[in-house]
Amino acid sequence: MSKVIIIGAGGVANVVAKKCAQNDSVFTEVLIATRTVAKADKIVAEIKEHMPDSRAVFTTATVDADNVPELVKLIQDFGPKMVINVALPYQDLTIMDACLETGVHYLDTANYEPKDVAKFEYSWQWAYQDRFREKGLMALLGCGFDPGATQAFTAHHAKHHFQEIHYLDIVDCNNGNHGKAFATNFNPEINIREITANGRYWENGQWVETQPLEISQDIYYPKVATRKSFVLYHEELESLVKHFPTIKRARFWMTFGEAYIKHLNVLEGIGMTSIEPINFRGMKVAPIEFLKAVLPAPESLAAGYSGQTCIGVQAKGIGKDGQPKVHFVYNVKDHADCYREVQAQGVSYTTGVPAMIGAMLMLNGDWMQPGVWNVEQLDPDPFFDAMNKWGLPISELADIELVKD
Ligand code: NDP
Repeated sequence: MSKVIIIGAGGVANVVAKKCAQNDSVFTEVLIATRTVAKADKIVAEIKEHMPDSRAVFTTATVDADNVPELVKLIQDFGPKMVINVALPYQDLTIMDACLETGVHYLDTANYEPKDVAKFEYSWQWAYQDRFREKGLMALLGCGFDPGATQAFTAHHAKHHFQEIHYLDIVDCNNGNHGKAFATNFNPEINIREITANGRYWENGQWVETQPLEISQDIYYPKVATRKSFVLYHEELESLVKHFPTIKRARFWMTFGEAYIKHLNVLEGIGMTSIEPINFRGMKVAPIEFLKAVLPAPESLAAGYSGQTCIGVQAKGIGKDGQPKVHFVYNVKDHADCYREVQAQGVSYTTGVPAMIGAMLMLNGDWMQPGVWNVEQLDPDPFFDAMNKWGLPISELADIELVKD
């Protein structure tokens, strides 16, 4: 049915490409374009080896996604209906510009972040609203798991369970073990920037700032474990409190093991996580970029990764019957299952599957509408059906408060 371009060939792109190969009645022709084309070639070789029955036709190309004219030429030459951006958040605006210039739809999994300021917010991308709407094009922002599925879970709470949501807690547990002393599960630079930043949560109409990893509690993750979890700032909080104004408090929690935090403290203490470039043998190098080159690539963690992820959203408020209510919606995914299916670890898998689903719901018309959208603004029902079908089954737990005040 549709031609698409995937930009990037990292851990998440690998999953998006393979799920497109499985879903070959929707994704008929796919171009994987990235900086290091050998990585895209490897993904295509694996599709040919592991999914010989897929009718989707895959090709690869080199592109510098920081360069709008290069992107425009790539898009014009291939002629896709949409671009799935799973490169890095730094490339969001250049790719959106190229989509506007060539008249194609856009999807990403993380909001724009300037390279030289550790700050992420939707304002830059929301500013494209009029331009996308006027051109009849859709841009879907942050359609991975968190952001992404977590917003569809919140929309599901609002549509099916609550008159008013008052307290929202998004919880993200990786109870997996990759056997390395220290590694990040997605792009190290983006991951470390996120964790070493101050925490922030929404309360009574304003943001409350915390020290990094200052607030924690033990949270029970159904079917997985009880794990110490920390309040972080996460981008979907910004759009959720905007689109659900009844929310009095919204927090995001993530698990970290003691060894992970110890390594991170040391790396931070000696300056290795800094984004300020230093002079090294006549070259300007940001220590965090050097650290990224030293750490294992996220996709290399996949073989031998054991354990599960559990990501969910707890809502508290007034139920449809007018009574106080607490409800939890979540997914549990096994790392080894992800490896068997698409040679990926669970964090890449749980991001890549919702990205494929978001693209499918745009292409088949269920979600397609001009403008710039966050996932919670769209109907969660077809998204839930597709999650259940394409490898991320959703469970619900009623009347048990997993995250305490
Ligand atoms: P990786 O670092 O594994 O992959 C990024 C890919 O983008 C690499 O192939 C890289 O090329 C390519 N790339 C980087 N810069 C450019 C450029 N200028 N031009 C062309 N290609 C470029 O990251 P992940 O796959 O782990 O993450 C991908 C995205 O998904 C990130 O934006 C991340 O923040 C997001 N994410 C979202 C989550 C969610 O739940 N919403 C969870 C996890 C990740 P090269 O190989 O040359 O480095």
